[in-house]
Amino acid sequence: MHPKIAKKEVTLHVIRRFGLSLSKRLGQNFLISEQVVDQIVASACLSPEDTVLEIGPGIGTLTQGLAETGASVVAVELDARLVEVLATTLEGYDNIRVVHGDILKTDISREIKAEKYKVVANLPYYITTPIIMTLLERRLPIEVLVTMVQKEVAQRMTASPGGKDYGALSVAVQYYTEPELLFDVPPTAFIPAPAVDSSVIRCTVRTKPPVDVADERRFFRVVKGAFSQRRKTLSNALKTTGLSSEQIAAILTKAQINPIRRGETLSLEEFATIANAWSSSES
Ligand code: SAM
Repeated sequence: MHPKIAKKEVTLHVIRRFGLSLSKRLGQNFLISEQVVDQIVASACLSPEDTVLEIGPGIGTLTQGLAETGASVVAVELDARLVEVLATTLEGYDNIRVVHGDILKTDISREIKAEKYKVVANLPYYITTPIIMTLLERRLPIEVLVTMVQKEVAQRMTASPGGKDYGALSVAVQYYTEPELLFDVPPTAFIPAPAVDSSVIRCTVRTKPPVDVADERRFFRVVKGAFSQRRKTLSNALKTTGLSSEQIAAILTKAQINPIRRGETLSLEEFATIANAWSSSES
């Protein structure tokens, strides 16, 4: 039985013992709540047959909880000092492999050969969106992502059309996955305490997108364009895609979407209808 890392006194001891100064720039806020670690691990429904990718293991707090399920864990950490610390804090676990690298630049398919795997992470908040979007856009064989993110980002990922939280991130995440907001985590669950509230979100990757899109790149160009100037009408905002006013008018007529609507009111289906009308206008 290994001693739990997810405790304030153990975390402080590790920080002191290795003389660590935590980097704000790299989003180094370490979990000190055993209960939160257990809840995150339970949300991923892990078994010894599973392979898990953890992003940013820090000093190994969540990594340890993941490894205790018997799953095979591959943990990618950018900070070389922490990679050294992990060799000590996770000593004795033969189902953990720590990879030193930037998750955005790591060739994950080379590191993980499993047919399918799960992603579980307390993400560094400064790059939450690039990490999630990179993993989804690469179409890796990920079944589910259970991640701790800033509460505000979790709200944006799960937002429905019409509200201020709904944007390009909501559309993209909901296109690739079925997101569920699971629970909130207060700043007191971390050392050092972050300035914001956090939430754990589970995104189950879809086997097939929820809408039929003829050209995915075009779909995302429409989404990006529509949200590029949130206060503008669709007919104005879509000009950022490079289309002329006449082309936009013809596409919106064909899609039967009122041109004075704003992007934030459109459902995924409506974005798909616009993108498909654009595609068919060129064929
Ligand atoms: N998993 C630990 C925990 O829950 O206590 C630490 C989480 S901490 C919020 C984020 C971790 O991500 C830090 O260890 C940080 O060094 C690491 N990190 C930051 N940027 C990264 C990147 N681009 N690739 C991999 N790890 C990164």
